[in-house]
Amino acid sequence: MTPDIPNYEIVAVRYATVERRARENFISTDFPDAPMPMDYFVWAIRGPHGDVVVDTGFTEATAHSRKRRYLHCPVEGLRRVGIAPETVKNVVITHLHYDHAGNLDRFPAAKFHLQESEAAFATGKFMLDASRQHAYDVEDVVWAVRGIHAGRIIFHSGMGEVLPGITLHHVGGHTAGLQVVRVHTARGWVVLASDATHFYANIRWRSPFPIVHDVGAMLEGYRVVEALADGPDHIIPGHDPAVAARFPRVPGLDIEAVRLDVPPTAET
Ligand SMILES: [Zn+2]
Repeated sequence: MTPDIPNYEIVAVRYATVERRARENFISTDFPDAPMPMDYFVWAIRGPHGDVVVDTGFTEATAHSRKRRYLHCPVEGLRRVGIAPETVKNVVITHLHYDHAGNLDRFPAAKFHLQESEAAFATGKFMLDASRQHAYDVEDVVWAVRGIHAGRIIFHSGMGEVLPGITLHHVGGHTAGLQVVRVHTARGWVVLASDATHFYANIRWRSPFPIVHDVGAMLEGYRVVEALADGPDHIIPGHDPAVAARFPRVPGLDIEAVRLDVPPTAET
């Protein structure tokens, strides 16, 4: 699309799921009491300068304690799509919630890209409040703090770049330091929105998911995500089962992985 910027492949690996009701997925309550399950993903970006992993999922023990249905280890899922976790040099942590920042020890060669405001949030006064602390696993946060002291965290404040054509953009909202990832692909700029929008419906109906630190920032984040993406089909929500359903499957695998750098084959 844009000359001189590499085109990247993006693969989403679906590794866990949980049953939920629609009214649990929006702050407004005028939604039907119908099933609306939530999926869990990690993402891999492949290009000429090596592989980039976006988020690292949770462990089987966490799946058990939080009562999520674990399909497989997300890191092993990445291995199945050709990513060797031992050699990955760049891991983006969109935010430090348990379902995005477990398994950090499985990437021994990596530096971890994190917003400065997320590190401050996850170690600051709001962690005294159960509503803000609940989705963090303190062991992940401690791991990240050790990573800071070991020189393995690359801090970003606002916008940052991982590689040419892979940029990070702070949006906040869901947590104080949530960032999204903009990736240049053959079909244009795709935005891995992570929990800037859990489902397509959150951004479409401007109705945030109930785990939200700052509703105003979340609403503004929808505008940022839309401005960064080349169209609605270029926005990838963090937890929507529709992502696995509408994008082409990576063939020959016994796990669910889909290609996001090619157009979807179905509507949402
Ligand atoms: Zn999440």
